[in-house]
Amino acid sequence: MIDTVHQLRCTGCSQRVTQREARSNFRCADCGELFEVEYPAWSSTSVAVHAPALVHANGSHYELPNGLGAPSLPTQPRTWMPNASALRWLWKERRHSALPIDQSGVWRFRELLPILENPNDAVTLREGNTPLLGMPRCAQAAGMERLLAKHQGMNPTGSFKDTGMTAALSVARERGFEWVACASTGNTSAAMAAYAARAGLRCLVLIPEGKIAWGKLSQAMDYGALTCQLRTDFDGCVRVLAEVVEHYPIYLLNSVNPYRLEGQKTPALEMAEEMEWNVPDHVIVPGGNLANCSALGKGFQEMKHLGLTRTVPSISVVQAAGANPLYTSMQTSAGRELTPVHADTRASAIRIGSPASWRKAVRILEQTGGFCEQVSEAEIAIAKAEIGREGVGCEPASAVTLAGLKKLVKDGRVKPSENVVLLLTGHTLKDSEYTIEFHRGNLLSEGEARGYESKIAPLRSEMPVLDASADAVLRVLAAGVS
Ligand SMILES: *Cc1c(COP(=O)(O)O)cnc(C)c1O
Repeated sequence: MIDTVHQLRCTGCSQRVTQREARSNFRCADCGELFEVEYPAWSSTSVAVHAPALVHANGSHYELPNGLGAPSLPTQPRTWMPNASALRWLWKERRHSALPIDQSGVWRFRELLPILENPNDAVTLREGNTPLLGMPRCAQAAGMERLLAKHQGMNPTGSFKDTGMTAALSVARERGFEWVACASTGNTSAAMAAYAARAGLRCLVLIPEGKIAWGKLSQAMDYGALTCQLRTDFDGCVRVLAEVVEHYPIYLLNSVNPYRLEGQKTPALEMAEEMEWNVPDHVIVPGGNLANCSALGKGFQEMKHLGLTRTVPSISVVQAAGANPLYTSMQTSAGRELTPVHADTRASAIRIGSPASWRKAVRILEQTGGFCEQVSEAEIAIAKAEIGREGVGCEPASAVTLAGLKKLVKDGRVKPSENVVLLLTGHTLKDSEYTIEFHRGNLLSEGEARGYESKIAPLRSEMPVLDASADAVLRVLAAGVS
């Protein structure tokens, strides 16, 4: 039944399949590309599989009838045309509801992600509804008049992965899977393990041995995942898992799963709502496996298509210089080809050399006029410390956004007067070891820090060890140690 409400469209050859026809690796049987979820009633790309007559494939815009849930065409009673102002009202109203799915910042917007037979079956930890914070000191550091940060680290398990996991894991449970699995740099496994535990499903995590932050590993164990550490990197874990899902009835929850992206598009809706249905000029996102940037883009594009907003922001992607396959691809082939790299950066969440969703990322950069930048280890560490000094904090991978923005402002690609939102993807507690090493002065090698010493020194917080006397503490205060 739900198959008439949503379908999967191959982003390579545009073939449409129902969710049951999708292969276990979520790749198109014909061209090998990834799918995206499409809603025949209202997606701009729509060509319906089951009811070809109902589509406006010529791209002409839809009329928005008065009243929620009004059937669009008499011949297609299941078709539902969203009404922009009624939706805005409904979504806001739900914030006062006691219903779990209304309290979720993902399912509150369920009209734009009708992927479940019954949304009340959603597995939710009340994810989403994250704050959009003013960042005056970071604005100054970047040369901007103002700057906002959408803190996705304020989700239940501390990263944006929760918004995608509530969506895809709910689909897994509805479809009767007993096992779910992911390869992970840490946050996906933390999120998956939590939602699987809530749903009563078993979960398998493949992580690169010794290469994920302790905070994240401890979460997967706390939530009861079967966590296998493989003697390889993230890209190796992905390869192994691709084989496992061929041989075992296990539902793949990496971001090749298109339902993840339906949840991950909702921060775009929240941003628009928080800005009174305006959108920023520019949103800056860290790039790892490169799915999240396209999820946000999809959210903004769908809102515009439905008349909820008038424009789509530019979406820019920032990578660590040590894990920069998209940056290199854009430089050398304008995004036509991507050569995997050996990834090496302390920002472990984006330590990915062969990103699965790179074509989706290229498309969203092109469609929105965004840029792809890369930043060094020192630039990441400085930006992270600046975000910390703002009282906000984030994990290293999130800080690439501020580091990248500085470069975009410096060479004029972003103007100081623009409204920019940084997407902070993970919580500062995810990787406290990184933070402590930075403040102790042990994080960066001399070579990495060269030229940045004067920027780093004032950002370091001191942590003196003293005798247990008021005198000793007072002496430190007098010396003005911050
Ligand atoms: C997963 C993750 C990313 C990368 O997102 P992609 O969709 O893989 O590009 C960035 N930051 C954090 C904290 C993450 O957990």
